[in-house]
Amino acid sequence: MDENVIAFEKNQPIETDIVIVGAGPVGLFAVFEAGLLGLNCHLIDNLDKVGGQCAELYPEKPIYDIPALPYCTGQGLVDELMKQADPFKPAFHLNQQADSLSKLEDGRWRLETSTGTVFHAPVIVIAAGAGSFVPRRPPLENIEEYEGSSILYAVRKMEALRDKKIVIAGGGDSALDWTLNLHPLASQVTLVHRRDQFRAAPDSVDKMRQLVANDEVDLQIGQIKELKGEGGQLEAIQIKSSDGELYEVPCDVLLPFFGLKMELGPIAEWGLNLDRDLITVDTEKFETSVPGIFAIGDINYYPGKLKLILSGFHEAALMAQQAFRYCRPDEKLVFRYTTSSTDLQKKLGVI
Ligand SMILES: Cc1cc2nc3c(=O)[nH]c(=O)nc-3n(C[C@H](O)[C@H](O)[C@H](O)COP(=O)(O)OP(=O)(O)OC[C@H]3O[C@@H](n4cnc5c(N)ncnc54)[C@H](O)[C@@H]3O)c2cc1C
Repeated sequence: MDENVIAFEKNQPIETDIVIVGAGPVGLFAVFEAGLLGLNCHLIDNLDKVGGQCAELYPEKPIYDIPALPYCTGQGLVDELMKQADPFKPAFHLNQQADSLSKLEDGRWRLETSTGTVFHAPVIVIAAGAGSFVPRRPPLENIEEYEGSSILYAVRKMEALRDKKIVIAGGGDSALDWTLNLHPLASQVTLVHRRDQFRAAPDSVDKMRQLVANDEVDLQIGQIKELKGEGGQLEAIQIKSSDGELYEVPCDVLLPFFGLKMELGPIAEWGLNLDRDLITVDTEKFETSVPGIFAIGDINYYPGKLKLILSGFHEAALMAQQAFRYCRPDEKLVFRYTTSSTDLQKKLGVI
């Protein structure tokens, strides 16, 4: 999929038929349904990978209720959806959040992401699941002063952390994996966890304990209480141990790994009718209260809604029919089967 992850010049508008917010299973299937009708899609996701909940929350768990697939894993389903979408060359814009939406004079939408990518499109499809996956922030005073400079929730470039004093907070796989990966290049790695038990893979925990025994990694059992520094640059963190003692550890960069939570985020400000953080849609087109903006998958609500992947697939198919009318107002939509239509088979690249 890497060749499809393209870097566009910031602020240079990308013109497309459909912008899909969310590259979960439903967003990925929407590419296929839109593609059959000749519509191009760009997808935005907050995560660094496609697949939504299936890839992030349960990649190795089995799913038994996908039609005609008696068994597949979360990641297996995503891989197959990517294969199915591939003939339509979707473009993915990962690690960014769909942020602001406004209307252009020509009636199309202008959508801008958190990293400044701008799209112009007649149709927006919100396939945002339970919302954006965002990191849980530690409840520390003045944390925003350091976020993005001295406090990072993801490691994008390991080299930027060379020779730094790094504090990693957390007890799960991310915290342990980064402890093991960063200790060879950092000048010091301190792992802070509130108790001396870890949820991470046992093998990673064993390796970490070996590094601690060899004095190559510093393990502190306690909670971070205060950030010390100036002008966005951390100098130290204050830790409170389980017996109440307060002490400082030198720190250039803090990496908190307290898991992800999901929130609707900026979409809540787009003026769409909502019902308890879900977007209300009709059941004919899965269009929102604003023409040209659709919502499919877990993010939508209508009477009888079932939060199942197969419901999202059905919604994607019906959405694409109406999206075609916005994108190709002068063309007639002809209903065809993939089994018998040579036009569809050409689009799929099978003949
Ligand atoms: C443990 C578990 C087991 C499950 N098992 C089953 C099962 O067996 N069968 C079944 O049918 N369903 C199952 N589900 C439910 C299923 O995973 C969801 O119904 C499905 O993932 C919904 O797909 P989606 O594409 O609508 O949303 P999601 O998978 O939630 O994907 C939405 C994507 O949108 C992104 N996003 C949101 N807002 C923004 C924004 N503003 N900007 C950029 N990106 C954004 C998110 O980062 C996310 O990647 C299970 C769920 C869980 C948690």
